[in-house]
Amino acid sequence: MDFSITADQQALLDMAADFARNEIAPHVMQFERDEHFPRELAARMGGLGLLGGTIPEEYGGLGFGNFENCLVVEELSKYCIGVSVSFAASGLGAYPILLFGSHEQKKKYLPDIAAGKKLAAFGITESAAGSDAGSIRTTATRKGDSYVLNGVKQWITNGGEALTYSVIAKTDKTKGARGASAFVVEKDTPGFTFGKKENKLGIRASATRELVFEDCEIPAGNILGREGTGFIVAMKTFDQTRTGIAAQAVGLAQGALNETLAYAHERKTFGKAIISHQAVQHMLANMATQIEAARALTYEASRYCDSGAKDMAKYSSMAKLLSSDVCMQVTTDCVQIFGGYGYMREYPVEKMMRDAKILQIYEGTNQIQRNVIGQFLIKEVAGNKVG
Ligand SMILES: Cc1cc2nc3c(=O)[nH]c(=O)nc-3n(C[C@H](O)[C@H](O)[C@H](O)COP(=O)(O)OP(=O)(O)OC[C@H]3O[C@@H](n4cnc5c(N)ncnc54)[C@H](O)[C@@H]3O)c2cc1C
Repeated sequence: MDFSITADQQALLDMAADFARNEIAPHVMQFERDEHFPRELAARMGGLGLLGGTIPEEYGGLGFGNFENCLVVEELSKYCIGVSVSFAASGLGAYPILLFGSHEQKKKYLPDIAAGKKLAAFGITESAAGSDAGSIRTTATRKGDSYVLNGVKQWITNGGEALTYSVIAKTDKTKGARGASAFVVEKDTPGFTFGKKENKLGIRASATRELVFEDCEIPAGNILGREGTGFIVAMKTFDQTRTGIAAQAVGLAQGALNETLAYAHERKTFGKAIISHQAVQHMLANMATQIEAARALTYEASRYCDSGAKDMAKYSSMAKLLSSDVCMQVTTDCVQIFGGYGYMREYPVEKMMRDAKILQIYEGTNQIQRNVIGQFLIKEVAGNKVG
């Protein structure tokens, strides 16, 4: 379909597609087997402007919007979202600084993230606080010109690999969600260590670790925004980045469909290519239709985010929900069309199916996305704004 992509946007998309084809695709199986974190790609991606694209030119980025970011993430996700999430998570870590940092904080941290010299990460989740993020227990206690952090963040993408961390911690335990604040913490700060690399079902190239804070003292100037606004920082960040998860899902689903179309064209049963069996054709037709619908919603939601609309969260949640559900269904059906070969590690679709599952879980499970959308519907019906 024609999504009214401009010549500049098409050039960016083509560059990301070339990079993914030439620099990611040939190494996917090895990255997966060795759980290799693709650090060596960062500088090259930074040089091409594929990292931190949403960072303004003033701070070393390309200054493009959520929509262009989705175009890039979709292309990078066609072969391996373990790789693409490692770089998308750096964008997630940069967003709180971008949205709430002072000019000095932006000048200090964003150029190196955009250049790929330093990756970023974002930490809110804890062992007893995932969906229920208000229950976090990590504390940041003011001590003169410092804050002292204590607590453990769990399952943080790029944990241990990133040099710059946006972290949400409680500055006032008596105030629930309103008692949280956001901070930048640098990797080598004394009292800041990491847990072991998690052994995961999928996205095995990505690094997921605990962030451990033990009397970790950081300058008071590392706070992002004001005390008590940590959850606003987190939610405003997710409003922007959930379309990126949707783009990962659209890219991965399209990549899996491409592999499956080629296989269905080659593989013969009963004297003809399996793509000629109508039951297989129907599965492929459903997949192509669902992917196109997910892409359309993702693109429109990301453009809506770029418009700065107040209810952007409703649409970024819808895009994340639809696209990740589509991706899970599509990758599962791709394994089915590959038959027994689909279950084997030698073929790419079993990895794609394992990878797809995380898209329904991180940055808010799909149940939580439904809660977000539901809250908007309740407000709309109460205010007589139902379309
Ligand atoms: C590989 C990986 C990478 C991650 N990366 C990061 C990262 O970089 N930074 C970070 O901060 N976090 C990260 N996370 C954490 C992730 O965002 C959380 O796992 C996720 O938000 C769900 O939280 P939980 O696992 O504690 O599940 P829980 O909150 O315990 O939920 C368990 C189940 O209950 C459901 N549920 C819970 N509450 C409700 C409700 N109110 N209504 C309906 N259903 C509900 C959930 O949908 C889920 O199905 C990562 C997780 C993984 C696995």
